[in-house]
Amino acid sequence: MTNPTIIDGTFLAMKKIEAVREQVEKICSQSLRAPKLAVILVGDNEASKIYVRNKEKKAKECFIDSETIILPSDVSKEELEETIFKLNLDEKVDAILLQLPLPQNLISDSFDEKYFLSLISPSKDVDCLTSFNQGMVFNGSSSIYPCTPQGVLNLIDFTYSDLDTSISFDSIKSANLAGKSALIVGRSLLVGKPLSLMLLNRNATVTMAHSKTQNLQDLVKDKDIIVTATGYPKLFNSQNVKDGAILIDVGINKLENGKLVGDLDFESFKNKDCYITPVPGGVGPMTIASLMENVVKLYKNR
Ligand code: NDP
Repeated sequence: MTNPTIIDGTFLAMKKIEAVREQVEKICSQSLRAPKLAVILVGDNEASKIYVRNKEKKAKECFIDSETIILPSDVSKEELEETIFKLNLDEKVDAILLQLPLPQNLISDSFDEKYFLSLISPSKDVDCLTSFNQGMVFNGSSSIYPCTPQGVLNLIDFTYSDLDTSISFDSIKSANLAGKSALIVGRSLLVGKPLSLMLLNRNATVTMAHSKTQNLQDLVKDKDIIVTATGYPKLFNSQNVKDGAILIDVGINKLENGKLVGDLDFESFKNKDCYITPVPGGVGPMTIASLMENVVKLYKNR
């Protein structure tokens, strides 16, 4: 009986954080100021508060300066705009993250989340969500990439490096994805769409699926790489998944019993010869580590 090989995102994220911390130490040793991340948190969304706390904690570990601007859920459109504009102009702020989702009262037919994201200066847009930076991702010439897709690519490269835990993060080579077939389930602006372009730019042959796709269980057949980012538990099981496939599960779903699970029917893979990320402990830690990496890249760009 075979077992799946677990791709340990917590371990890889720790390696990446170490690499980022070394870069910041080097910057600070030259008597320069540390890179700074500003996070805007609007309202009382409990999950968002936890994410923001985790980001603050990781920033501290990397010696990155971080500031969280907390705005009440009834903040006006103008106040939020003003906050973003001020941070755009603040010389000491290198990276701005607007924590999503925004409260419903801020959203209207004319002003959705994309509108507020578009106000962030592209040079400080740490998650690559402005149209300008999305265009740069589109043509493969961006200096930074969205945090979650970047973390997914790191996990894929790590797997193709035989999950060699002895090498440093910076020594992990970009895998040659020419001739590899990849399936991405989910087409959001945050994850699926940018990831499809990033894999395409790395010469993989990419298939995209979404909620209107029929027969997903058939589509997984013969794919070398499968990434799921839907928020839909038990999306598919191990049936038809080829031996040796790499499965990256971005989804985070809270079951009624409080358990966190991904999109994949993880149990069904327990006798499968494949590489798979766990939830939690897979993509999540890599997203935060990539955020820290992007803060330092934006600092250096400026
Ligand atoms: P969105 O809701 O923006 O997008 C979900 C995508 O999944 C859509 O394209 C949707 O299709 C597709 N989808 C939904 N249900 C199905 C289904 N049954 N079959 C096939 N496709 C389906 O979500 P996000 O991309 O922002 O996030 C996706 C998941 O990843 C969530 O669980 C989120 O919590 C998690 N996440 C995790 C991160 C991490 O760091 N681990 C970071 C970001 C997100 P359609 O377009 O047709 O509606």
